[in-house]
Amino acid sequence: MKRVLVTGGAGFIGSHLCKRLLNEGCDVICLDNYFTGSKENVADMMSNPRFDLVRHDVIDPYKAEVDEIFNLACPASPIHYQYNPIKTIKTSVMGAINMLDLARRTGAKMLQASTSEVYGDPIVHPQVETYWGNVNPIGKRSCYDEGKRCAETLCFDYHQQNDVRIKVIRIFNTYGPNMHPADGRVVSNFIMQALRGEDITIYGTGEQTRSFQYVDDLIEGMMRTMATGDEFTGPVNLGNPNEFTIAQLAEKVIEMTGSKSKIIYQPLPSDDPRQRQPNIGLAKKVLDWEPTIQLEQGLSKTIEYFKTKI
Ligand code: NAD
Ligand code: UDP
Repeated sequence: MKRVLVTGGAGFIGSHLCKRLLNEGCDVICLDNYFTGSKENVADMMSNPRFDLVRHDVIDPYKAEVDEIFNLACPASPIHYQYNPIKTIKTSVMGAINMLDLARRTGAKMLQASTSEVYGDPIVHPQVETYWGNVNPIGKRSCYDEGKRCAETLCFDYHQQNDVRIKVIRIFNTYGPNMHPADGRVVSNFIMQALRGEDITIYGTGEQTRSFQYVDDLIEGMMRTMATGDEFTGPVNLGNPNEFTIAQLAEKVIEMTGSKSKIIYQPLPSDDPRQRQPNIGLAKKVLDWEPTIQLEQGLSKTIEYFKTKI
């Protein structure tokens, strides 16, 4: 039986991953400091004898005998990662060092949850893995973007210097059940606002684009990446290439919830990327993977989930 460590396992993506790993017969250690995650997200797994829940902060070393590590610990929503930027960068950088040290000591494979944010406000569109990005090193988003970029660098340095087995995935905007209703990201904000009949807050003109991926597709991509041979390190983009403007998303949510909410416009946060769309050619080729759940179907499942949170 494989023993798998999931850092950030009580968060949105981590909780789906823990469930999938348990279903595949793995022994799962879910490690989290509950900054943005919660025990509620993993409550239904607690009675499983193959599931361990550990309160721990990844900026401190952690020791366990494990076969695989999924390093997801890090707040992902701008309001949360900007709340304490120094802590965010420590989480990404020291968390990566601690998990890579653990991988080196145990011989475990480590998958690093990187992000499309490493491309910053991209000039190359759609984004391909060979593009180095356009990131402001001293802006509001830098603690997250540069922290994640440094974590990627650390993965490749541990790989080259110490033969650590690594997999780097670049996740594009992902949504679905278990997102925190007050998480501040666009999908959760719009759905909660629509369900409560509150104004829908578009930042800027709404012409900026994102490509939204449903969480089940991402989990499948993560499992396939971890299962690749040691020669495959990534980085590999995991995202849904269907691109929408934020205004289109707002209209879709209003239509699907039947809400009477009206759209209001608020200032665009600084350094907000203008466009984002993954090129998933590499994932298709190496993982034989592509998303299967499109926006309307994914939103419908997510709306049902958020209705239970009202
Ligand atoms: P989330 O905020 O729901 O989950 C992050 C989890 O990490 C939470 O449970 C949080 O409590 C935990 N955590 C934060 N700091 C920690 C620390 N110092 N020590 C231990 N645990 C800590 O966000 P998510 O959307 O599930 O994101 C998971 C990972 O995927 C993150 O690394 C994020 O950067 C990455 N990612 C997510 C997206 C997305 O669209 N959801 C996109 C790109 C990358
Ligand atoms: N956004 C918005 N209204 C909101 C929340 C976000 O218009 O209530 C915009 C935000 O400015 C960005 C996009 O939606 O252009 C995606 O934001 P999110 O925080 O979800 O993800 P990220 O910017 O990290 O891709």
